[in-house]
Amino acid sequence: MPSNQDKKLSFATRSVHAGYNSADHEGALNPPVYMTSTFTFDNVAQGAGRFAGEEPGHFYSRVSNPTQEVLETRLADLEEGEAALATASGMGAITATLWTIVAPGDQILVDKTLYGCTFSFLEHGLKKFGVDICYADFTDHHDIQAKLSDKTRVLYFETPVNPNMRVIDISAVCRIAKDFNSQIKVMVDNTYCTPALQRPICLGADIVVHSATKYLGGHGDLIAGAVIADAETIQQIRLFGLKDMTGAVIAPMTAFLILRGIKTLQLRMERHCQNAQAIAEMLEQHPAVDRVFFPGLKTDPGYQVASQQMDDFGGMIALELKGGFEAGVRMLNRLKLAKLAVSLGDAETLIQHPASMTHSTYTVEQRAEHGITEGLVRISAGLESAEDIIADLEQALAG
Ligand SMILES: *Cc1c(COP(=O)(O)O)cnc(C)c1O
Repeated sequence: MPSNQDKKLSFATRSVHAGYNSADHEGALNPPVYMTSTFTFDNVAQGAGRFAGEEPGHFYSRVSNPTQEVLETRLADLEEGEAALATASGMGAITATLWTIVAPGDQILVDKTLYGCTFSFLEHGLKKFGVDICYADFTDHHDIQAKLSDKTRVLYFETPVNPNMRVIDISAVCRIAKDFNSQIKVMVDNTYCTPALQRPICLGADIVVHSATKYLGGHGDLIAGAVIADAETIQQIRLFGLKDMTGAVIAPMTAFLILRGIKTLQLRMERHCQNAQAIAEMLEQHPAVDRVFFPGLKTDPGYQVASQQMDDFGGMIALELKGGFEAGVRMLNRLKLAKLAVSLGDAETLIQHPASMTHSTYTVEQRAEHGITEGLVRISAGLESAEDIIADLEQALAG
């Protein structure tokens, strides 16, 4: 459990220690992986008490597990939330949360650009069950205000936005929502930043979700997710969205690997940010490049807000080549060091084409409407040396 003392320690220290005390586990430096589906009770009353939530302790690993609990405590601590729930995937976190907090007739107001499967879950999933999905440009505060209604239950967005890197002012959006109706929940997908760069709950958000598959795990070897919020909301999501609606439970070994990844989170984020900055500055000067979307460039429309709400500008870049789609495909096919793959936040530099890959769940018209151009290329800057990544990009852009 994180003590109040833990809270006063720095982020890097808490990334290594929060939520785990080796003295409670035979002195094991690392948390044991509890490979067990079920937990025995001393007597019927104890079992009943655990099921009723009146007694602490685990009863079945679809609900909770001690290894998972260490991860959840650490994530809540780093995001400065009361509690966390780790899940089988980022989509597991998003779906378990929304299945728990919305009902037919409610409206979810979302930013116009979303991760492709989040868009698909809302547009093709929740909509089918009578939940109204309404889109606004969250960088335009008048647009948000115009679309709020007495049905609005949740505001949902990412920042920087996947894949086109628009930056949304978290405090401003929270203020607009709460001024309209204090009961509205503001939910932020913090996958791109991680708590090492941005802590939405400190800026007024109610719920943070993650794809832990990305920077939190950090090594491209697992799929997982997490939700961080107040303890009551987390308990509701655990006992309904997770237990009954999705069953999207994280495996104990996966929880262990994420804990291992998080120990180096801040170190890795520093390098990801440095590399992305160097790559973006090179691309901005390159004659084959039409536009670079990276909030760390002073010319980027998101620069001011990003400087205020992020500790650094992150490891993700988007670009548009002169010659659009055709030029993009030629460049992607010529890469030697950088890998042509979806996902992000790994040690390897990964490059992909959103229109044909991560955002193919949108129609061509929807992509145009939602600000995802057909020629957009997305780069996740890896941990290799910036010099080597830049040399690879330059050779791919030449010719
Ligand atoms: C990858 C991703 C997700 C989905 O996470 P999975 O772990 O793949 O289920 C959600 N949001 C963002 C921003 C992502 O990049």
